[in-house]
Amino acid sequence: MKIRFWGVRGSIPAPGPETIRYGGNTACVSIQTAAGGLVIIDMGTGLMHLGNSLMTGPFGKGQGRAAILLSHTHWDHIQGLGFFPPIFIPGNMFTVWGPGRSSEILEGILEGQMDPNFSPLQSLKNFSATFDVCAAPCGPAFAAEGLEVSAWEHPHGSATALAFRIVEDGRTFVYASDFGQPEADAPPSRAAIAFFKDADVLLHDTTYRPADQATRRNRGFSSYEDAAAAAAASNVGRLVMFHYDQDYSDDDVDEMFASCRAALDARGGTSIGLVAAREGEELEI
Ligand SMILES: [Zn+2]
Repeated sequence: MKIRFWGVRGSIPAPGPETIRYGGNTACVSIQTAAGGLVIIDMGTGLMHLGNSLMTGPFGKGQGRAAILLSHTHWDHIQGLGFFPPIFIPGNMFTVWGPGRSSEILEGILEGQMDPNFSPLQSLKNFSATFDVCAAPCGPAFAAEGLEVSAWEHPHGSATALAFRIVEDGRTFVYASDFGQPEADAPPSRAAIAFFKDADVLLHDTTYRPADQATRRNRGFSSYEDAAAAAAASNVGRLVMFHYDQDYSDDDVDEMFASCRAALDARGGTSIGLVAAREGEELEI
């Protein structure tokens, strides 16, 4: 599978000269499957740029289909939806798999985003493409565009978010953004280690430096130390840093990358590759 980053920023878009190298768009990742299928993870503002690129292919002709895995419905994970050009082309088909006790509840939350007070689109019903919304089962695996996907609901401050474990031909990619354990300095939980175990690539929330996390613990985000500890304990092949705080410049992220490398090495993770996600870059596993 080919994994491409369209938005790597947390909480709110942060465009500008200080963030031009890693990018200022919020969470959106695409996976191109070996069979040519498309799976999208999260619908932050990066989704707009993914959508623009798709318009030159089948999605521009109303012949596209994709699965969308949605970790949770905070703004930075849904705000690209109304600016995703393929959603306005009849014939395209999308299935969203996201959190919630029922598909109706999740659809109601996404419908609320389109309320005329917030959006000129007024309703999901004004999308021209087919847009199905399903509550992702937590536990049993389900199929999304030929990939085997498992979802796990984990703590995210006072809320929760879903992590996804995605398998294709024995290769595994885990997406775990917006990941915050409630206790300070807690080691990775057994549940986390079990979910991340032996993944070829673990994308993990690295919103904060530890010192900034300490003063914002209730926001429910990880530091790069948390991510390094989880990666080392889970024996993953590569760790991807993701969801950088909106106030961090490119130079800050460079510095966090070096610190995260040191944190991995200090935990016996010298063989674990490290990538700081940046817009437009692609990983293949
Ligand atoms: Zn977020």
